[in-house]
Amino acid sequence: ATPPGLLPREVATHCPYCALQCGMTLRSDDAGVTVHPRQFPTNRGGLCQKGWTAAELLDHPERLTTPLVRDPASGELQPASWDTALDRVVAGIRAVQDDAGRDSVAVFGGGGLTNEKAYALGKFARIGLRTRNIDYNGRFCMSSAAAAGMCAFGIDRGLPFPLADLGRADTLLLVGANPAETMPPLVRWLTEQRRNGGKLIVIDPRVTATARQADLHLQPLPGTDLAVANALLHIALTEGWVDRAYVADRTTGFDAVRRGVAAWWPARAEQLSGVPVADLEATARALGTAGRVIILTARGAEQHAKGVDTVTAYVNLALALGLPGRDGSGYGCLTGQGNGQGGREHGQKADQLPGYRKIDDPAAREHVAGVWGVPADELPGPGVPAYQLLDSLGTPGGPRALLVFGSNPVVSAPRAARIEGRLRDLDLLVVADLLLSETAALADVVLPTAQWAEEDGTMTNLEGRVLRRRALRPPPSGVRTDLAIISDLAARLAGAESTDANPADANPASVRPAAVAAARFPADPATVFAELRRASAGGAADYAGISWDRIDADDGVYWPCPTEDGPDTPRLFADRFATPDGRARFHPVDHRPAAEEVCATYPLHFTTGRVLAQYQSGTQTRRVAALRRAAPEAFVELHPDLAARLDIDDGDPVRVTSRRGEFSAPARLSAGIRPDTVFAPFHYAGKGRANSVTNDAVDPISGMPEFKICAVRVEKA
Ligand code: SF4
Repeated sequence: ATPPGLLPREVATHCPYCALQCGMTLRSDDAGVTVHPRQFPTNRGGLCQKGWTAAELLDHPERLTTPLVRDPASGELQPASWDTALDRVVAGIRAVQDDAGRDSVAVFGGGGLTNEKAYALGKFARIGLRTRNIDYNGRFCMSSAAAAGMCAFGIDRGLPFPLADLGRADTLLLVGANPAETMPPLVRWLTEQRRNGGKLIVIDPRVTATARQADLHLQPLPGTDLAVANALLHIALTEGWVDRAYVADRTTGFDAVRRGVAAWWPARAEQLSGVPVADLEATARALGTAGRVIILTARGAEQHAKGVDTVTAYVNLALALGLPGRDGSGYGCLTGQGNGQGGREHGQKADQLPGYRKIDDPAAREHVAGVWGVPADELPGPGVPAYQLLDSLGTPGGPRALLVFGSNPVVSAPRAARIEGRLRDLDLLVVADLLLSETAALADVVLPTAQWAEEDGTMTNLEGRVLRRRALRPPPSGVRTDLAIISDLAARLAGAESTDANPADANPASVRPAAVAAARFPADPATVFAELRRASAGGAADYAGISWDRIDADDGVYWPCPTEDGPDTPRLFADRFATPDGRARFHPVDHRPAAEEVCATYPLHFTTGRVLAQYQSGTQTRRVAALRRAAPEAFVELHPDLAARLDIDDGDPVRVTSRRGEFSAPARLSAGIRPDTVFAPFHYAGKGRANSVTNDAVDPISGMPEFKICAVRVEKA
């Protein structure tokens, strides 16, 4: 046991980065903090480069250890005390809200925040700031799969089965997923799957590290995955591989889908996607005739203006084959960010309250308002999705102040230069971060935050398994946790609350003493988690039965878990789906072109993705020496035939231009990409920022931007 007041010198915790949440042990001794892989069910002792080097940022020279406030005279960010910084934030919020109403302040969260922080941030926005304007960067990650899952199954959990099922699959289909680069320890399951005689099929426009391991690689034109799925279902129907009994007993709506895919002859899909009919037939056979079959989608299928429909097409295929709920089979989404799953369950999303409740559901509002101790009619209504929110900043009628926690939209948002301009137009930009990210560099106030090894909390990985993140040491002097910052701000806002009666607001404000507000926003993560459990009780993502002790005892706990003495739920859908009638729902979907098509001026397709040694917007990983050496800068991947046509050699600086902007980076020639398509990773800032050219068209249901396809021209820079 740890002596009172002392933190242990070694803790069992999890990697701060992706949704695999690999188990690791952190040790602190005279040599500093070191990372050691730990046997945990998801990574089985493996770590990727990012995990191995995660401790380097704890004592990094660029780490922020004091608040920064922009000096109006010089225009520079200057070190300031916490009192000065928080007073500036509160004064700025009050000025904007008094002038333009509560919704004039917005909050932007992140999919890497712990469950406790995601919960506290949603609550702070709704009853601390009383704004409807909150959303988070997970909207750019898996929101299309989340929406498709909700529509089909009535619930959204990335994998509705344990990761270990992958190793048992006879056929595993990966659509737009590249785990060999994004989460390498997961590849152990793929290796095991093939060692067991299973077949791995990958659909991806590039020959990725994952595609190279596949038995069959389908390489469609970007934006045509939906047509491929419909053709696969067409073949399954023709060949009699549809599970008629399952469809009749466990689903609704198949007839409309059957009629829709009748038009997707394989030859038509080949003409559109470039995938040969023989490969479509081989894939359909591998899916339709195997025993245990798993279909997984990731960003390649999801980050489109038709992302929800594309995922739905693969869900339709899975349902027609009778996969979801069958032992060792199913459909799932590989969530990307560390807490991409938990981050979307506790109220950071514009349209949700904790427990994955809908914010416009009167019963949900009553329940959550009761936990928060406010009248239900004080809760704001739904806000708008992330891109719409960011694009409205500083515009007439849009928010004039923004608080950012755990996100760097200057690099990660589509059409990034436009969003950068919006941020510059704000009256007040506040960024809480551990490093001076590109977004923080624009802020009026920067608040330095603790890192993952300096605070306790929980994360929910891609399987819906709730995990413990444990503190090795306290935050350094001058640094506060996000929860402490939220608590401090709430107290100061309550103390400053006096006039709040702008006619733009629907509800008159109630003045609350600072002490009450602070009690409502505790900084202690255990207290927040206890409240989160009550708030989630009865919701789809029910954490009521999940205690920290139980997580410790069981290597994590799968939600839903409604009671402490009852079971958790590693596998969903065995008997029924989470819809009112217990049946999964088919939805007919059809191919439509990308939001922007190639033309004479912009004749090439452009798509973005990730590399092994970098993570998301790169704020952290671009500062880690080994990762920077491994992947120092952006590159533009193009086919040698295309390069020859454009007179570009390997390593030449090239410029990529779209209707929205340009970026430049060295050329990297690869025969693994289609000659009509170019690729770049999106982790980089400055002149190598790939999101300078991406399209901000969004999916009408999920709000997901179309990161995966736009039209560009490429030339030697
Ligand atoms: Fe594991 Fe992901 Fe961390 Fe790599 S980045 S060690 S795959 S959790």
